[in-house]
Amino acid sequence: MPSRSLRVAVIGAGAAGLVAARELRREGHAPVVFERTDGVGGTWVYEDADAASTDPLRSRRSNLYASLRTNLPRECMGFLDFPFAAAAAGPNDDARRFPGHAEVLRYLREFARRFDLLGLVRFQTEVVRVSREASESWRVRYSKKVAGSEKRETEEEVFDAVVVCNGHYYQTRVADIAGLEAWPGKQLHSNSYRVPEPFRGQVAVVIGCSVSGIDISRDIAGVAKEVHVVDRSAPAATRERLPGHHTNVWIHSMVDRAEQDGSVVFQDGSRVKADVIIHCTGYKYSFPFLGDDSTISVDDNRVGPLYKHVFPPRVAPRLSFIGLPLRVIPFALFELQSNWVAGVLSGRIELPSEEEMTREVMAFYSDLDACGWPRRYTHVLGDFEFKYEEWLAGQCRREKIEEWRKEMYAAAVKDNMDHHGSYRDMWDDGYRDHLLVQANRDFALYFP
Ligand code: FAD
Repeated sequence: MPSRSLRVAVIGAGAAGLVAARELRREGHAPVVFERTDGVGGTWVYEDADAASTDPLRSRRSNLYASLRTNLPRECMGFLDFPFAAAAAGPNDDARRFPGHAEVLRYLREFARRFDLLGLVRFQTEVVRVSREASESWRVRYSKKVAGSEKRETEEEVFDAVVVCNGHYYQTRVADIAGLEAWPGKQLHSNSYRVPEPFRGQVAVVIGCSVSGIDISRDIAGVAKEVHVVDRSAPAATRERLPGHHTNVWIHSMVDRAEQDGSVVFQDGSRVKADVIIHCTGYKYSFPFLGDDSTISVDDNRVGPLYKHVFPPRVAPRLSFIGLPLRVIPFALFELQSNWVAGVLSGRIELPSEEEMTREVMAFYSDLDACGWPRRYTHVLGDFEFKYEEWLAGQCRREKIEEWRKEMYAAAVKDNMDHHGSYRDMWDDGYRDHLLVQANRDFALYFP
């Protein structure tokens, strides 16, 4: 039985903050969730572009494009004990296996409602500083909107622990390309991209070849004159057509330079006169409200030192981070990490000593260095995801990730690579049905 009930500040009401609040309360703690916007769902709240009035390279709160669909099948993507099953087919419901973004927001709102979490959230309240008190507690300073006015006021409160769930798709990273300062075309980050129409008839260079780079390239290919996608992992002389139904999309190796006459020159010496460069180059971790007393820093996108990507050894368990790992099934991972944090805070689960945790973190970093894994990929779990989650499940003494979920994830990743543009719709026609049958059998536990 839990021996300790703490008052815990959770920063952010996206998927991570919501499940953290639920797990903390289930464990007997008293969570307070701070959310700077006026709703739950974080990333999944779509915001129209106001590109004309702002710098399109700046970080925005929302980063979804209008056509965005999930890159995981819904059954695989949902929380472990709250299936993301297709909604009862109402006229506005999106029952596709890889639904659009609005369906994910609907699901997260339903999750908050089902577990009665909304009352825990303080909306329009932004955490601006978290500082350590002499005791083990944390002082949280926040700026909140004054009801019925545009004014804001700052207040402070002391909490026994802080769980950071502020997301990591806000602080944009742009490509460092020689000559870009004097290049006359338009530039934007994928974070500001919403719809294809502004690119009608244009020649676009899309830098980055991961999910958003490919999605956005295909999105604008229907209206743009040409789309040139830059894949830095492609061999230097690459210049080939992207497979699929558009004939105006090309893959290139890295850009060498941009020139004042509007040319973009690729590493193989070929060049295009481009109207726009879209940086699909990802994001940086950022914790503007944390100071040195948090004991963590961000170095080349490594947040550390962190034991198992969650606890800074020196201030564990009273400060923790949910949701840092990349190339994972996010919601399931958030749930397991949250369960672990809640159990450690209550005393149900024991952490190693500070020295042991520090030793393990340093050994982990040495292993990454030894195999040449770049520091900026410290939180990319990839093939190690399920081992990590099994470890978490073991700590929490709960069931492991289901086999069908793992297989579904692997199949979706493979289909994405093999069938780029069409993989999502393939799944709607009885494709890989055996996995869906197993998923639905498990879901019957929760939706009898
Ligand atoms: P967020 O959703 O970013 O939530 C963080 C919350 O913290 C926000 O509400 C923010 O307002 C709040 N906040 C931040 N700072 C403060 C502060 N100082 N004070 C108070 N509140 C604060 N995942 C999938 O599973 N499937 C997909 O198909 C998928 N597609 C994606 C596509 C794109 C373009 C992107 C960017 C991400 C995608 N993801 C996908 C990953 C997605 O980000 C995660 O699924 C998940 O939603 C992240 O949740 P989070 O709670 O960690 O962060």
